[in-house]
Amino acid sequence: MNATTPFVPRAGYAEIDLYAPRPAAMAIDLSDNTNRWGPSPAAVRVIAESASASLSRYPQAYSDALRFALANYVGAAPPSITTGCGSDDVLDSAIRAFGEPGDRVTIPDPSFTMIAWFARLNALAPMLVPLDADYDIDAEAMLACDGGTIYVCSPNNPTGTPATRERVEQLADRTRGVVIVDEAYAEFAGRSLVDLALARPNVLVVRTMSKAFGLAGLRVGYAVGNPELIGEVEKSRGPYKVSALAERAATAALTEDIPWMQRHAALVVENRERLTQALFERGLNPIPSSTNFVLLPLTNASTIADRMRQLGVAVRALEGMRPVSAALAASGGSTLRISVGPWEQLQAALDALDHARAECA
Ligand SMILES: *Cc1c(COP(=O)(O)O)cnc(C)c1O
Repeated sequence: MNATTPFVPRAGYAEIDLYAPRPAAMAIDLSDNTNRWGPSPAAVRVIAESASASLSRYPQAYSDALRFALANYVGAAPPSITTGCGSDDVLDSAIRAFGEPGDRVTIPDPSFTMIAWFARLNALAPMLVPLDADYDIDAEAMLACDGGTIYVCSPNNPTGTPATRERVEQLADRTRGVVIVDEAYAEFAGRSLVDLALARPNVLVVRTMSKAFGLAGLRVGYAVGNPELIGEVEKSRGPYKVSALAERAATAALTEDIPWMQRHAALVVENRERLTQALFERGLNPIPSSTNFVLLPLTNASTIADRMRQLGVAVRALEGMRPVSAALAASGGSTLRISVGPWEQLQAALDALDHARAECA
């Protein structure tokens, strides 16, 4: 090996950057949609109890105990479930499993930005199709551009809005490829397409333990679908992706802490409606949400978010959003995304927002 031989990166990786690192966490951090009441207590207990027994051995290759607990949770048979290192890993594996290099992945816009990035990492071409003015998917436009996999996020990050079932069914009926439905926020939405994934050959619903169960640091995600689809995602994913501790902790959360999760999800819904109302009362124009965050179209969102951070509250500024609605056009595509937690934290966020807006006016 010649030490001067230049390293040549893979073609297509030149324009791919590392995922942007997030700023340091703050005491009141409403920036990343995690559970602001903390993690499932059963998961925490099981990690403390089982560390010495778990760490020196390999986990199960395909997480069968966790698969069983998830099957029970969603009302499916175990062969209809696969797991991964966060739902990001499941989404990445699915995109790779369902597309040949060069194929298209059709993605609504605005939506979850990681998907275009995963498409490019796997040498597929992301095709962005605008949401309609009600933030619903435009099924006809997505089918017109379709060349393989179609991604739908419902309810959608960052708009907080669901896709209508009929439109997802249209996609499933008419595409030659697979429809991936990302339900990271299903527990806050009171609706799900898991039944569609179990009834159709080409619908994969992807979900996570990161949001409602408060386990983002554990990295456990899963998918529900026809066993044939699930088998292909598992090939693509590879073995040993869920660590032994993660499998035990997530299984405990699903076995013991469903009531804990449901209680906090109900609080999210209550506080979300209260926050939305408080924003409307300020003459602002938040988008009514089905998730654990609220998107607020707002001019100068980055400046406002920086000032709020100085005041001790972290929220996420998202700029340059495609102006699919009148509210987004009015703000020039500039928005704040505020995660919903305990009311004291939301009140602090509202106070910081009022200060920042008064100063920036
Ligand atoms: C938070 C989120 C996820 C979850 O990612 P994990 O890798 O499971 O932590 C997936 N999809 C969307 C749209 C999200 O907002």
